[in-house]
Amino acid sequence: MPPKDNPVNLRGHHLICIHTFLGEGYSKAFSENMGDIVRILKVPTQKIRIVEGLDHICTFCPYSNWVSCLKGNDKVMDMDKKVVSILGIEPRGTYKSLYLRLKTGEAVHKGLFCDVCAKCEWFALYCRPLLCSG
Ligand code: SF4
Ligand code: SF4
Repeated sequence: MPPKDNPVNLRGHHLICIHTFLGEGYSKAFSENMGDIVRILKVPTQKIRIVEGLDHICTFCPYSNWVSCLKGNDKVMDMDKKVVSILGIEPRGTYKSLYLRLKTGEAVHKGLFCDVCAKCEWFALYCRPLLCSG
């Protein structure tokens, strides 16, 4: 978690994950941190800084080695780029949470992330019905 009033760092594809999060995750610490971040981002004026690589969600992930993602760094970096491109946002931009949550929600509703997320292990378990019904 960032210090109070600082931006939350998020990599591109985590904009979708905060939208679909149901409390599950890779570990207890991961899920608690993710829940905290989702709660913070409900504050409309909270800033989100888009980052290329590990972010404040990765911080508590057992698959982060503090340099890259051990789940397949190229795969997740590719997902990040696709999400940033679909949303038409700057790869290192800073935005208000409300703006990005509305923009992401609209794209989710249209089914624009269905293909992007198809290779993720959580896709078949949880996310497909929400992401691919548009
Ligand atoms: S399928 Fe994976 S990447 Fe896509 S929203 Fe769900 S958890 Fe995130
Ligand atoms: S699996 Fe990789 S991208 Fe996802 S939270 Fe963990 S370190 Fe970050």
